[in-house]
Amino acid sequence: MVKKKRSHSRSGSGGAAEPVRRSRRMKPLEPEQIPLSRRKDVQDADDQLLPLSDDQLLDLRMSDLKLTIRGTVLEKRIAQLNEELAARGLKFKPHFWLSEDWFSPDDVPGIAIPFYLAHRRLMRLERKQLLDVEGGTHEGCMKILRHETGHAIDTAFRLRRRAIYRKVFGKASVPYPESYQPKPSSRNYVHHLEMWYAQSHPLEDFAETFAVWLRPGSRWRARYRNWPAIKKLETVDELMESIRGKKPVVQSRATVDPLSRLRKTLRTHYERKRTHYGLDLPSVYDNDLRKLFSADDAHRRNMTAAAFLTRIRTELHRTVSKWTGENAYTIDQVVQEMIERCRELNLRLGGHPEEVKRDAMILVAVRITNFLHEGGHRVAV
Ligand SMILES: [Zn+2]
Repeated sequence: MVKKKRSHSRSGSGGAAEPVRRSRRMKPLEPEQIPLSRRKDVQDADDQLLPLSDDQLLDLRMSDLKLTIRGTVLEKRIAQLNEELAARGLKFKPHFWLSEDWFSPDDVPGIAIPFYLAHRRLMRLERKQLLDVEGGTHEGCMKILRHETGHAIDTAFRLRRRAIYRKVFGKASVPYPESYQPKPSSRNYVHHLEMWYAQSHPLEDFAETFAVWLRPGSRWRARYRNWPAIKKLETVDELMESIRGKKPVVQSRATVDPLSRLRKTLRTHYERKRTHYGLDLPSVYDNDLRKLFSADDAHRRNMTAAAFLTRIRTELHRTVSKWTGENAYTIDQVVQEMIERCRELNLRLGGHPEEVKRDAMILVAVRITNFLHEGGHRVAV
């Protein structure tokens, strides 16, 4: 995402944290090997956050969170990213800070990382509040880091001003859409983040293409061989060749909206997010789930709906992707959401399993189709 921020972002110490280089072959540091200063950062965050209930956490202001990137798992991921850049002959290293969301500002070649990724207690809160932790897994986080690095390197070398960039990706000055209508079958764009995100805007198209190009072992030449999108990958390859070993033109180490300057409470933050994503709306979907399963006392000894869905998950996945052409990530997201909601509604199997299975497949397929046509999904822009 780009914050016009071009955005994704959260958590921070305010200052720009210097990425630490470390060889991947080195064993992870044992606690006693972590330098004292970093161990103290981790300890401070633990002392502050671990004793608090969710309610108490929500009362904290973002600026009061004692979080840093140092000593956390983020440090390792940033080191890995730097190694990936170096392996491609790029001298550029973005700077990082904690903020509210993932983002790379328009004019700063750095990356804001969301605060919750700096502490496991906050990741738990995030999941409870938003049902999802964006960038919460190692590979999920690396994917977003590579995407944001695409924006940062674009800014650092003013790539978007080049004629070839404008010709292949389009003009950066096109306004960002509120939502977009992706064409899942399009081969003009690479696939990286969910929701065919490359289709949302020329800058995102570039960032996504860069991310695919950067990923170690991505074999993009073979994977996209027969796609028109190969032209975009080749363009990124040429642009990167032209800046190999060079110092960035834009060298600002500024941070935008660092956590230390955000005065709102976590409660306000999550209320806004929940409204934005429509999470507080009464769900029409609940009615569908109640029709599919049962909350009736007579069925209390039956298998739970969550267990049933988990059992048929692979088959559901296979069938739905066959007919919708949808990618694995979106289907997983929909099924996961369905399982969690069934658990919350305490639903159980009521009808004949084969019939319920058939109806569940239809429901997931419909849900996927709506996903595609509603626009404005929860997507990291
Ligand atoms: Zn982006």
